[in-house]
Amino acid sequence: MDKQEIVSGLRALLGEDRVQDTPEIIKKASTDYIGFRQYERFDGKDWVPKAVCVVKPRSTEEVAKALGFLNQNRIDTVPRTGGSSVTLSIEPEDGGVILDGSEMNEIMSLNEQDMMLTARCGTPLEYIENYLNERGFTTGHFPQSLPLAHLGGLIATRSIGQFSTLYGGIEDLLVGLEAVLADGEVIRIKNSPRRSVGPDLRHLFIGSEGMLGFITEATIKIFRYHPETRWMHAWAIKDMTAGLDFIREVIVEGYRPAVVRLHDAEEVQRMFSGSISEDHSVLLFLAEGPALVTAAIGQGIARIAERHKTIDLGTRPVESWLKTRNDVCYHMDEPVYYRYGIVADTCEISAPWSGIAKIYEAIKERLPKEMPNLVSIGGHSSHSYIQGTNIYFTFGFIVKNGAESARSDYMKVISVIMEETLKWGGSIAHHHGSGKYRTRWMPEEHGSSYPLLRKLKDALDPNKILNKGVLLTD
Ligand SMILES: Cc1cc2nc3c(=O)[nH]c(=O)nc-3n(C[C@H](O)[C@H](O)[C@H](O)COP(=O)(O)OP(=O)(O)OC[C@H]3O[C@@H](n4cnc5c(N)ncnc54)[C@H](O)[C@@H]3O)c2cc1C
Repeated sequence: MDKQEIVSGLRALLGEDRVQDTPEIIKKASTDYIGFRQYERFDGKDWVPKAVCVVKPRSTEEVAKALGFLNQNRIDTVPRTGGSSVTLSIEPEDGGVILDGSEMNEIMSLNEQDMMLTARCGTPLEYIENYLNERGFTTGHFPQSLPLAHLGGLIATRSIGQFSTLYGGIEDLLVGLEAVLADGEVIRIKNSPRRSVGPDLRHLFIGSEGMLGFITEATIKIFRYHPETRWMHAWAIKDMTAGLDFIREVIVEGYRPAVVRLHDAEEVQRMFSGSISEDHSVLLFLAEGPALVTAAIGQGIARIAERHKTIDLGTRPVESWLKTRNDVCYHMDEPVYYRYGIVADTCEISAPWSGIAKIYEAIKERLPKEMPNLVSIGGHSSHSYIQGTNIYFTFGFIVKNGAESARSDYMKVISVIMEETLKWGGSIAHHHGSGKYRTRWMPEEHGSSYPLLRKLKDALDPNKILNKGVLLTD
């Protein structure tokens, strides 16, 4: 089908206003925040939108109609909602269509007895959180992109929030969902506190990055909101290895503060601009919940601090982090570093306790040697588990030779992080997903279970229309 046939076919099905094909709208809908794309935008060599149009359904029925048509005509389709992707996951193929759920934004029900809320896929997380706070509840889900991300994308990327040690990631928060399969079939996975009825089908969609279906509606858990009983504290510690030992002890001993963060000296310099000893790492903790619980967690962690060589920093570093933690979201279109010819970005991985410090050290050692134009490589751990933790690397490099070199140097940084992570038994993406830039490492990440992912794709999207290039190498 040519462009005109696709647009008029979709308009005939859904109505004129649901199908938009101006270059500005297509470009906005396919804009991704990965570092080198931001550089290209700044450098004036912006990526040219390749999609034919953006379809903006307002109901599940419209999603089903649109997918039925796109599948029948084998047209590449990229689902999106909030557009805060940082992995090239919402960039369409040449001639493809963007299926944008951002106008499906409505809280459908709040069930205070069963402690859950149901909303459509395009409902902004910040809106849901504010709505709940006014009623004494919280989602417990605070990704840094809280002001940008929507419910559908948060599920499709297997997102996680800054308070995850207490509340978990989206996989712990999602109760049930509705989705439309590639051929337009609508399915609902019902809400249940737990059930033993076969494989958990929610997991087909959690982290599927739009390649197995389109999530139209979801039900998530809610929690009592207790900001007034928070306990928080910060300590400086010699280095990352010592800090990782500290947080391992906190988690293994059974304490569950909501926030557990460990920033290395490189990040400490940026975050606290000289107010904290520059050659130290910094630990930030925050517990929330009933006062009796937060007090006990605080006492327990303070006791662990006594057993380690730490410097007590009080509460101010945590308060300062709390206030500024999402500020970056308000400056996404005016990237400061780029003005100085620097690409800055992040990349997150995870590993068991036995491997995480080795990965961190190997990357800190290799990158400056292999990239003379690197200006910074730092990292922090921000999501901890009984078996291990994550490291969120933050890096910057000087662009040597325009947009092309920005992209190749960017991928060089990513390659080193992926290689060292796999070498030491880690996982190559902790919460941003594969997108279209980590795909080539997916076979090694998944090993002998990788063919299963392909079989799922064959079963659920046999015409392979949904989000080509994420997770699967072909
Ligand atoms: C400044 C910043 C900070 C961030 N911090 C965090 C963080 O702390 N934690 C975290 O987990 N992530 C973080 N992210 C990444 C991003 O915000 C998350 O991946 C988020 O979950 C994406 O949601 P979205 O609605 O913006 O999805 P989009 O960008 O619209 O889409 C992301 C992916 O989900 C798929 N998708 C979207 N909607 C649907 C749907 N309805 N059905 C099926 N597939 C769909 C898309 O095809 C794509 O693959 C951050 C991003 C930025 C820019």
